[in-house]
Amino acid sequence: MAERKRLVAGNWKMNGGRADGLALARGVAERARGSHGCDLLVCPPFTLLATAGKALAGSGVALGGQDCHAAISGAFTGCISAEMLKDAGCSHAIVGHSERRHTCGETDADIRAKTLAAWRAGLTAIVCVGETRAEREGGRAISVVEAQTAGSLPDGATSQNLIVAYEPVWAIGTGLTPTMGDIAEMHAAIRARIRADTRMLYGGSVNPKNAAEILALEDVDGALVGGASLKADDFWAIAEACG
Ligand code: PEP
Repeated sequence: MAERKRLVAGNWKMNGGRADGLALARGVAERARGSHGCDLLVCPPFTLLATAGKALAGSGVALGGQDCHAAISGAFTGCISAEMLKDAGCSHAIVGHSERRHTCGETDADIRAKTLAAWRAGLTAIVCVGETRAEREGGRAISVVEAQTAGSLPDGATSQNLIVAYEPVWAIGTGLTPTMGDIAEMHAAIRARIRADTRMLYGGSVNPKNAAEILALEDVDGALVGGASLKADDFWAIAEACG
């Protein structure tokens, strides 16, 4: 089987001012200077990239953006290009998070274009896919996620430029998680459509208590963590569960 180093990625979403962001980034950096067995990434709000980047320098923790625009530059008020993320010290960009698919109306085609933009800038794209509660209850979870995967991922993926995150919409920020069997089944379905050496993360209410069981599943190569990434101790406990 292809070697896939595990990754724990924190998505801070729209949280934190400079003081909180600095304290959190310092907390993660301090812990990361000790020994650990996985890659680490934090994705702060754009306003905190510089602050967090400075605090994380030398810790080995990578910096990522939570979104990027498909264009390099131009009249796109409020948007950030992949090149701007790169310039700000990022190595990764999350694209297609369900909060953008569902609240900003982003389509698979938009996400595909953003993934290509991330690659153009030399970033690793973390492409999120996941079904809604109605889709799961209707027995369509796998077909929905397969369609998102096919529509959102461009040709040209490598082990370095792409990470796929399976994040059931109904599990994000709710404290609910799928059964271990459902996570394993979905990861296997996605794996059948991507390279054997592409990493796949699970995201959706991962916390220090459930992380070890989820991270032990075959084809789960790490976690994308929202709420629990806002406390350095919790984020670190999840990183330690990576083994
Ligand atoms: C996320 O937003 O990517 C996420 C997984 O959030 P949470 O961990 O809070 O469910």
